[in-house]
Formats: sequence, structure tokens, C-alpha cells
Amino acid sequence: MTQTQPLATAELLAAVPRTVTLLGATGSIGSSTIDLLRRDPARYRVEAVTARRNGAALAKLARELNARFAAIADPAAYQELKSGLSGTRIEPAAGPTALVEAAQRPAEWVMAAITGAASLQPTLAAAERGATVALANKECLVCAGGLFMRRAAAAGAAVLPVDSEHNAIFQALGAGRREDVKRIILTASGGPFRTWPPEAIRKVTLEQALKHPTWSMGRKITIDSATLMNKGLELIEAHHLFGLESDELDVVVHAQSVVHGLVEFRDGSVIAQLGSPDMRIPIAHCLAHPARMTTPAQQLDLSRIGTLSFEEPDPVRFPALTMARRALEAGGAAPTVLNAANEVAVAEFVAGRLGFCGIPVLVEATLDAAERKGATGEPQSVEHAIAIDHIGRTLASELLPEIAAMAS
Ligand code: NAD
Ligand code: MG
Repeated sequence: MTQTQPLATAELLAAVPRTVTLLGATGSIGSSTIDLLRRDPARYRVEAVTARRNGAALAKLARELNARFAAIADPAAYQELKSGLSGTRIEPAAGPTALVEAAQRPAEWVMAAITGAASLQPTLAAAERGATVALANKECLVCAGGLFMRRAAAAGAAVLPVDSEHNAIFQALGAGRREDVKRIILTASGGPFRTWPPEAIRKVTLEQALKHPTWSMGRKITIDSATLMNKGLELIEAHHLFGLESDELDVVVHAQSVVHGLVEFRDGSVIAQLGSPDMRIPIAHCLAHPARMTTPAQQLDLSRIGTLSFEEPDPVRFPALTMARRALEAGGAAPTVLNAANEVAVAEFVAGRLGFCGIPVLVEATLDAAERKGATGEPQSVEHAIAIDHIGRTLASELLPEIAAMAS
């Protein structure tokens, strides 16, 4: 008679599907996450999916993933979602509270991949019930990072960084003790205009700004990468995720996007994480954490790449990075205002109402105006963060006509 061996705990855990929720399921990060889930469907069960306004696309995804709940932010898209889900047991819902409900439903792992500060409330709702939050969205940390990290820690939520640089740092930090870290270095591709003459950057079109040399991403982050505001937002993101101050956070321009982040320890050792520029690698790291999973990402072939280059970011071509550092060092409400003004500026550039070089000018003018108005305190509550975000957006909209005319 053969005796059945009892399963080891790890094997038992591996046999139980992990429940996951995708906030921002129809976007670039959402699609990359779904691509990984599809490769191993037995290991994951999808609880909820959300999107902004494409009800038909969300319904299609929810059906395919056999989700239990699908929430659309825009109430005008509710009927489209509902009819797309007819004949299924998937529950449709709409509006901001529906996004929060999606995050509150009992999934162990939540991908936070909604763009912008709109991600704050649903992401916080997932963190506050102690879920593992795979954090792609950086704007919620820039908007209210202190608050977010405190609430996540109080609820015992694990916050796993998806942003490639922060994921690299997270991995490299495992090589030593936190108190032995001297500084961290985030790499930046430099975007499409890294080598352009400053006069040419003034005439950049939307189409040119959307052509990122190494990464394929959603619109907002692609524009942020072209201005280098993305790296500025990432400095603030790193400050909150890793508890480091401005003088412990560096940026180096690395056009090949192969080295994603580095940690320097006090003995002089520098530990880096490398990989092909494919977001499925950091997403997979968070999805399988603490184990590893196979991904379809291209294997890194260093001899084919040949040369890895590193240079200082150019403050003349890219004033947005300097501005974000200023907001980080000022603290208080400055990062919240910076983020709000940048969201307005990027939307106005995309709509053709503001020139590319007007983006950092509008952000700076908004920061100055907010300082004069005395909007300086760090958000202590979600309502406070939303109120400061609103002030930043209003000031930026008021300043827009003058700056648009000046920067055209
Ligand atoms: P995307 O524009 O491709 O997708 C955004 C998703 O969020 C979509 O599902 C959209 O429907 C939803 N959404 C957008 N605005 C919303 C709103 N106001 N309310 C509710 N839902 C809304 O963006 P993305 O490139 O996938 O980026 C998502 C987040 O991840 C961003 O914060 C970005 O900075 C961050 N991130 C992205 C990448 C990347 O490679 N794409 C890398 C690092 C970090
Ligand atoms: Mg990044």
C-alpha cells in the first residue's frame, strides 16, 4: 500500500489560487498584468476589475477573466458595462464609490494601476483592509504619501513597488540592512528629447512626445517621461516607499533602460537590478512575491546591447526634475500641488492648449501661487489631500491662459 505524503505548507499554498483585483484593468499596466495571469490561470482567481469609461472593454475583460465585480468610474458608461455583462453573474457598478468597493472586496492582491491622483481613494481602500498592494500608480504617493504609507503600515498591508526603478531598489535593498544604505539611484531613460537642442524642444508635438524610446506605456506617464517630471515624481515616490531624504536620492540618465535602480551601501558596494525594459518583469516580481515566476520578457543579452551609458540629467532641457526636487524638499503640501498642476498641464498639452515647454512653467507658477496662498500643510486626511489637490488644479487652470500664451 502506498502512503500519501502530507503536502508541505508551501505546496499547499501554491495549490490555492491567489485572489486578485485589478484597478485600472484596461490600461498598459493592467494589460501586462492580465497577460501574466492568462499564462497561469489555475493559480489566480480574479475578484474585481475597474476602468474609467470604456464599459464595453471592461465587460469583455471581466467576462474573459471570470471576475465577480466590474466597476466603471464614469456613470455614463454604466449601461454599456451592464449590457456587456448580461447573461453572466458578474456584478456591474459605476461611479467613484464603486471603485472603492472594488478595492474593498476580498482579494489578497490588488494591482493599483489607475492613472493620477484619482487612484488615491481606491488604492487606500485596498491598503486599509491589509491587502497586498502592488503599487504601479505613483501619483497617490506624491499626492498623499505620508498618509498612505502610515495607513498601510497600520493595517499591516504590504506595499510592493511595481514602478520599475522602485521595484529594482526594493530587490537590491535585500542585499543589506536598511541602516547600512547610503543612497539609492534611480535611472531615467531621458525620454525622446534627451539629445535635442533646447530650441527644438520648444516645438515638440504630441506625436513626438508620445514616442518613448524604450518603454511602451499609457499616455500620461509617457508625457511625464518626456518632460522628466516622471523621474521627479519617482523621487517623491522613493522618499515615501523607502523612507529616504532628498540627499539620499539620486537620478542618473541611462538611455538603454537596462539598469533600473541601484542601492549604494556604506561599504561602497553598489547593488543594481537589471532586465529588459518590459513591465511584466516588475509586475511578475510583485505577483509571485516572495517566489519568482516565469515571464515571456526578452532575455537580457548584454553582449548584443554592447554599451551601457550613464550621464547627469540636464537641468536646462528638463526643468521639471529640478522642480519636483524642490517640492520634495519643501514638503508639506508642495508635492500635492506639484502633482495636481502637472496633471492639469499634461491634459492641456494633450488637448493642444499648452505647448510642451509650458508644462513645467505652469507647474512652477502653480507651486509659487499655492505658496503665496499659504496652502502649505502636509495632507493629514484624505479630505485634506483632495482639497489641496483641488486648489492646485484650480490655480493651474486660472494660470493657464497667461502661461499658454507666454510659452507658445
Ligand atoms: P493607462 O492610461 O494605460 O491606464 C490607466 C488605467 O486607469 C485605465 O484602465 C483607465 O481606464 C484607468 N483610469 C484612468 N483615469 C482614471 C480615473 N480618473 N478614474 C478611474 N480610472 C481611471 O496608464 P498606465 O500606463 O497603465 O499607468 C497606470 C499607472 O501606473 C500610472 O500611475 C503610471 O504612472 C504608473 N506606471 C505605469 C508604467 C507603465 O509602464 N505603463 C510604469 C510605471 C508606473
Ligand atoms: Mg518608472
